[in-house]
Amino acid sequence: MHRSGTAMAWNVFKFCTALRGLGSVMILLVLGIVGVTYYALVLCNYGPALLAATAALDALVALAVLLLFHFLLVMLLWSYFSVVFTDPGGVPPNWRPDVDEERGETAPLSTTELNDTGSSRIRYCRKCNQLKPPRCHHCSVCGRCVLKMDHHCVWVVNCVGALNYKFFLLFLLYTFLETALVTLSLLPHFIAFFSDVEIPGTPGALATTFLTFVLNLAFTLSVLGFMIMHVSLVSGNTTTIECRHMRKKLLHSGSMILAGRGILLRFLETTSGIGSFHHTQRRT
Ligand SMILES: [Zn+2]
Ligand SMILES: [Zn+2]
Repeated sequence: MHRSGTAMAWNVFKFCTALRGLGSVMILLVLGIVGVTYYALVLCNYGPALLAATAALDALVALAVLLLFHFLLVMLLWSYFSVVFTDPGGVPPNWRPDVDEERGETAPLSTTELNDTGSSRIRYCRKCNQLKPPRCHHCSVCGRCVLKMDHHCVWVVNCVGALNYKFFLLFLLYTFLETALVTLSLLPHFIAFFSDVEIPGTPGALATTFLTFVLNLAFTLSVLGFMIMHVSLVSGNTTTIECRHMRKKLLHSGSMILAGRGILLRFLETTSGIGSFHHTQRRT
């Protein structure tokens, strides 16, 4: 499927594949974006606006924006570093499926998965030399199997799996709220660039404000698409990897309703940039 021009224009994650090689430098990049945003919103615009406010309403608005911004910033950084430093979940050493000794079979659902033909099977990872529990996938970047792996995220330099998925969802939520707040707060300043009004401030501060608005608008739209996609995945109790496999099967099954759902998820993947965020799982 070709990406539309609009989707590509707003897709700030499309260079993620190249950025993957940067590894931990991505954390510095995220902190850099946060720093630039802080400088533009707090130090260049709303901080001085609060100090210089003559009307009570202006001071109240500036104070409200600053308080909300700092609250969301703390929550964003907390959720971000929780995703970065929380282990996504590995396979316990010497893990073995539960075996029903009387019947000589593995317990259904807890240890096996159904393959395309509907029969159950136990999977084995040749790279890790171990059995794979259900919904577990091998990440080629991390070099290990991850429980309920969703995808390997270059922005958090970590896999998103069973144990840090909750923090990842919170990170998406707070990123969306924070970037939306910054975009709306800087919108009047952005509009002022295209008017004849004299804008106070140094050229550096004005350029940073302009850049921050464009950057945060792009992130707001991208993260919104990504959030809608993950809410859809959570409501269906599935992961990005499982959804991709399911979509391939559905598109080949000829079911118009199911195929339509697959195309919708593909659209959300494209607009949210998950194509670059995507997993590096390989079936082994
Ligand atoms: Zn593995
Ligand atoms: Zn990984």
